Amino acid sequence: MKPPAFAYHDPRTLEDAVALLGSLDNARIIAGGQSLMPMLSMRLAAPDHLIDLNRVAGLDGIAPTPGGLRIGAMTRQRSLEDSDLVRRHYPLMAEALTFVGHRQTRNRGTIGGSLCNLDPAAELVLVCTALDATLEIVGPAGPRELPMADFPAGFLTPALAPDELLAAIRLPAPPSAASSCFLEFARRHGDYAIAAAAVILVPDGPGRIGQATVALGGTAAAPLRLVEAERRLVGAAPDATAFAAAAACCRTIEAMEDPQTPPWYRRRLAEVLVRRALQAAWSRTGAAA
Ligand code: FAD
Repeated sequence: MKPPAFAYHDPRTLEDAVALLGSLDNARIIAGGQSLMPMLSMRLAAPDHLIDLNRVAGLDGIAPTPGGLRIGAMTRQRSLEDSDLVRRHYPLMAEALTFVGHRQTRNRGTIGGSLCNLDPAAELVLVCTALDATLEIVGPAGPRELPMADFPAGFLTPALAPDELLAAIRLPAPPSAASSCFLEFARRHGDYAIAAAAVILVPDGPGRIGQATVALGGTAAAPLRLVEAERRLVGAAPDATAFAAAAACCRTIEAMEDPQTPPWYRRRLAEVLVRRALQAAWSRTGAAA
């Protein structure tokens, strides 16, 4: 099917893009088009106006900041994958990117588009949740910041006003000894995951876990931080018993249901993925035996 008719707008500055968004009725941003174009073609979205961010100056790029890294919303997923800064300091994101669609979709797809599309199983949404990203949002009233944890407002719905857009993502610097692992299970490589786990561990000496982040994607409308699992891990010895006890927290999460996947299956998958990811993350720390 062909998309419904729309007027196309091609702003060159962020101010112009925001002004268009604020003045046009039923307008939609287009970034890489990898989710929006299929939605238009299937008539799941019918905007009267499309505002293209592709030629807006200053919206892409990966730059170190005193506090970590700033990534422009229009940065292609492939640029993140190729970035030494990302590989060196945010290996969790680098690992997750290999699961995002296909090289062809990553060539066009942007990090901002992925976050704003907010698919429950989107790898970058999960990674930005695990890394405690801060989002830079711009609207007619000016810029504002939002923690990633507050970005999901519901299923596929970001906490953006109709006249706001996502301009950049800031990642805090990870502790130097941090180690991570991203794992997911999908029916075919490149499909959205049925469940995914993102974990970060920071050793406190060779035999103790100092800090732990455990996040799940694909199981609920938005990524979940497993706070109880993190609490169980901090101060524990990094062994199979501790990892299994933390992963067991997945047994009580609320999990989505679809015609192929009952909630119990998602919970079971999540538990296995978390346990394996914790084991792998620890084995990547210098503290592992
Ligand atoms: P677009 O499609 O252009 O936009 C998506 C939505 O975000 C639209 O509603 C748009 O209005 C809004 N938007 C975009 N940018 C902004 C902004 N800066 N501010 C406000 N709103 C904005 N994704 C995964 O995560 N995992 C996968 O496994 C996966 N597999 C895929 C397989 C295929 C075959 C395809 C075609 C896509 C797949 N995707 C997958 C989706 C892909 O990652 C998209 O790139 C991503 O979902 C959207 O990014 P985009 O830049 O293409 O955004």
